[in-house]
Amino acid sequence: MKYDAVIIGAGMSGLSAGIRLAYFDKRVLILERHYAYGGLNSYYTLGGRQYDVGLHALTNYTPPGHRGGQPLNRILRQLRLSREELKLHPQKYSEVRFPGRTLRFTNDVADFIESVATAFPKEAGGFYKVVEDVLSREYVLDGEDGESSARAYLRSFLNDEILIDMILCPVMYYGSPTPHDMPLGQFVVMFRSVYCEGFARPEGGVRTIIKVLVKKYRSLGGKLRMRCGVERIHHDGHRVTSIELDDGEHVEADLVLSSAGFDETMALCAGEANSTGTVAGVSTEDRLSFLESVSIVNVEPSAFGIMPTIVFYNTEDRFTYARPDGAYDLSSGVLCMPGNFTGAALPEGIVRVTNLANYDRWRTMSPAEYAVRKNEWADKASEIVAGMFPDFRPHVIERDVFSPTTIERYTGHLGGAVYGSPRKIHSGRTPLANLAICGTDQGFLGIVGAMLSGILIANAYGME
Ligand SMILES: Cc1cc2nc3c(=O)[nH]c(=O)nc-3n(C[C@H](O)[C@H](O)[C@H](O)COP(=O)(O)OP(=O)(O)OC[C@H]3O[C@@H](n4cnc5c(N)ncnc54)[C@H](O)[C@@H]3O)c2cc1C
Repeated sequence: MKYDAVIIGAGMSGLSAGIRLAYFDKRVLILERHYAYGGLNSYYTLGGRQYDVGLHALTNYTPPGHRGGQPLNRILRQLRLSREELKLHPQKYSEVRFPGRTLRFTNDVADFIESVATAFPKEAGGFYKVVEDVLSREYVLDGEDGESSARAYLRSFLNDEILIDMILCPVMYYGSPTPHDMPLGQFVVMFRSVYCEGFARPEGGVRTIIKVLVKKYRSLGGKLRMRCGVERIHHDGHRVTSIELDDGEHVEADLVLSSAGFDETMALCAGEANSTGTVAGVSTEDRLSFLESVSIVNVEPSAFGIMPTIVFYNTEDRFTYARPDGAYDLSSGVLCMPGNFTGAALPEGIVRVTNLANYDRWRTMSPAEYAVRKNEWADKASEIVAGMFPDFRPHVIERDVFSPTTIERYTGHLGGAVYGSPRKIHSGRTPLANLAICGTDQGFLGIVGAMLSGILIANAYGME
């Protein structure tokens, strides 16, 4: 059968693109290499417990009844989903903790403005202007050429480099594919997503979002094939002619959208399978990846004194967001307590800890070393958290850890790069006229960003 559109990947962007196209009566097929939907934001069961791979928080929260043009409202409108289906629980409050200073923010940016004014009184006026200026800007990405700088932008309003580091820490952890700095457009998008709109968690975790998307897509007649990877994209130099699956079957389509990543998709066009973790001519050295531990605790963290929803911390004088030389970087990280969202009633307490990690160090470890080093990292990361808050370690009953190589194995993203390549293709365009990129390498990042990206690219390429 020939399809109007084939989409590579059943992550957030692929599913959203699929729904959008199916709404316009296109015959759509989504191909997913793995057995689970969700890609970078999937879920799994281990020892009878359900774990989310990548969910700390959904960014871009807008409260019920809010009908503005914010990304979440746009997604709900374009995918014709009701807000009730996502069952969102907003955060209580989050913190940015640096040595001797703490900033606090909620889903009301006024709280962040007040917190900055208290911790950095001399910068209060400048920071107010940052917020005003960010909110006056369009919600669009720029800096595909990598020339604009969020740090330079912040320095035009603020003098205190520590405050600049503290502002950048959460927005980088939640949406920067580039080390040390980020393009201004991406900064504006992330600043609004994190500080102005804020965080929420769907009841039931990431499953809730995925199930809503898959159900909607199927209800519109969209086809979804799991455990069905794309091995090669055949083309005549101008257009895709057919898609070859892992089992050798060929599928044809007028349009192909790929959420596999730009370099990964080009490797499929060149006939280079990327299952070895490398693609000829593509370096993964500038790609950022993380280690994450998920600890199940026998009592909710708030019961023993860990009250914030999310904490972005840094233990050094300055904040370094970059691929570490060693296997991991303990100097900064993210701590998330899913039970500390308003009204969250989880079956068990959970503490998630995330640190920056070096993919190549993990890729080259022997299986025995890999197992030892994962536990070593998780123990050290927990120790640092225990120095900031009441110790959660005596309450841990189960722990799972995933590394850059886990991320690569389950998503195919080179270098286990959570935010993909630092080079984004905002137009989605590729050298082939009927092949476009959606998701991570298009440029909108995170769960909401990926959904928005799927919609934008489906609208741009799929409506002829
Ligand atoms: C540990 C972690 C924590 C995170 N925390 C958050 C968070 O708290 N909040 C937030 O907003 N975001 C978070 N993210 C980021 C978020 O998950 C991603 O930005 C988003 O899910 C990306 O979606 P995507 O559709 O662009 O890509 P992906 O999810 O990677 O989807 C691509 C899909 O394509 C499939 N695929 C690849 N190659 C092929 C092939 N050849 N054939 C068939 N299928 C293929 C992959 O298996 C995958 O399912 C986190 C990510 C991780 C890893």
